[in-house]
Amino acid sequence: MKGAAVFNQQQAFGHLSMLMNSPAKRLAGKVTIVTGGARGIGAAIATLFSQHGAHVIVADLLEDLGSSLAETIGGRFIRCDVSMESDVEAAVKLAFRWKGRLDVMVNNAGIAGPDGSITSLEMCQLKATLDVNLNGVVHGIKYAARAMVEAGRGGSIICTASSAALMGGLGSHSYTLSKEAIIGVARSCACELGVHGIRVNCVSPHGVPTDILVNAFRELPGREEITAEEVGKVIAERGSLLKGRCGSVADAAAAALFLASDESGFVTGHNLVVDGGFTSGVNTMS
Ligand code: NAD
Repeated sequence: MKGAAVFNQQQAFGHLSMLMNSPAKRLAGKVTIVTGGARGIGAAIATLFSQHGAHVIVADLLEDLGSSLAETIGGRFIRCDVSMESDVEAAVKLAFRWKGRLDVMVNNAGIAGPDGSITSLEMCQLKATLDVNLNGVVHGIKYAARAMVEAGRGGSIICTASSAALMGGLGSHSYTLSKEAIIGVARSCACELGVHGIRVNCVSPHGVPTDILVNAFRELPGREEITAEEVGKVIAERGSLLKGRCGSVADAAAAALFLASDESGFVTGHNLVVDGGFTSGVNTMS
């Protein structure tokens, strides 16, 4: 593609370090849980939030990665399977045991779900995806909201949806269904919880070459060995209006930071799409 900048993940991470080094602590003293926080987008959110003064609980299935990140950022780790209601409740209880409050809940854990034709989809596979992606988010909203309402200090609940909620063909059927449902339930909960000063919003990332996306690419015929960098190049070439640029964990984390901070105090029921314009339209001018 003519005149396109070369894909540069370094540049994308540069943006994260710019935000990290920003003198203003936008989440000073806020207590936060990040589900799926051990790696990828969740790890970037946990790191950025802690750089901005938040006390972060990393809640994930991955104990080694999660506890090592928690130690690095001065936070806490809890092993948590978001599909299990009691695990999510335990994460919220930990926030109160640790710091006596919960200000921000990031429901970020997600899985890709099975790829393949609708004609051979097993309903148990669909259920397995919904158990994590949708029920996991509902559990997070439920227990965070319950605690926030009781504490009476308001709060921010952020759910990671996806560009796949807005456009077909960007994920498996079960993934697409789960992500669109997340936006619906977040909006619905925003209506109920606004009266308590609790905001509920979504971030919809797109084309970030983390494990979930790289593994999805590797399911495609002839792409079994594709690397994260190569996935990034494909997105930069064809998956964004901003040619030469794929999504980064920093882009998604920056959006979550905005929704967590008081700067977005009048924003609720919103889905913040971070997709390089991909779901907005096509460039017909060049
Ligand atoms: P990732 O696979 O690197 O991270 C997912 C994290 O969720 C992992 O740490 C994993 O251990 C955790 N997780 C999975 N199942 C869990 C469970 N049952 N309980 C607790 N934790 C669990 O991928 P990522 O890109 O960082 O994904 C984070 C979120 O962003 C997901 O919800 C994903 O659907 C969404 N998303 C990603 C992209 C992208 O391009 N990477 C695009 C749109 C949306």
